[in-house]
Amino acid sequence: MNLIIMGAPGAGKGTQAQIISEKLGIPTISTGDILRGAIAAGTELGNSAKSYMDRGELVPDDVVIGIVRQYLESECCKDGFLLDGFPRSIEQAEALQKFGVKIDAVLAIEVDDDKIVERMGGRRVCPGCGASYNLKYKPPRVPGRCDRCSAELYARSDDNPETVRTRLATYHSQTEPVKKFYAERGLLVSVDGNNGIENTSGLLQKALSRLTEKDDTAEE
Ligand code: AMP
Repeated sequence: MNLIIMGAPGAGKGTQAQIISEKLGIPTISTGDILRGAIAAGTELGNSAKSYMDRGELVPDDVVIGIVRQYLESECCKDGFLLDGFPRSIEQAEALQKFGVKIDAVLAIEVDDDKIVERMGGRRVCPGCGASYNLKYKPPRVPGRCDRCSAELYARSDDNPETVRTRLATYHSQTEPVKKFYAERGLLVSVDGNNGIENTSGLLQKALSRLTEKDDTAEE
């Protein structure tokens, strides 16, 4: 399946993407993770993206579109993929359409803004494998250490309250219209993400099962 997962910053896209990727055996392409990796490695891409990310703004479309294109054309995505954090603007959605890849569904996780702000304060991320934790809702087994690779967890610099407010405003103005874009094409499936990781995962699972059943019926 070729899937997209959408949602405001802190809605739980990364966590749910990891669960879906493992269940379906498809890779997650997270533009946020790729950009953070580039910053950590000190590449030209990282240096140019950093100031946008620190301000909570979107990195320019042409940069992100180029990255995603490279991944989608590579061997890793030939049997399906899950895009996390892309597209985030109408320009990006249109570019993806022009790549000629068929998207099967767009999963949107809906979370209230006040909950987002509360969640972001407690988010901790693993620099090694990208796993995401929350001090209140999904704490690591050993405080401060990743469950999977034991690396020391850190708080993302763009998770501070001021940047979170800008990121939410950016989401509402530039990314929300992308949901309409996919709704008009009959691809949008929205689930309530306000009630915790397991509840949201269950709702996404049900939505994906319905999609698979629909696919099987169409093939018969
Ligand atoms: P995320 O990890 O998905 O929350 O992304 C963190 C930051 O990376 C965003 O606030 C943007 O600055 C940048 N970013 C990630 N994905 C995109 C994208 N598709 N378009 C533009 N900027 C992006």
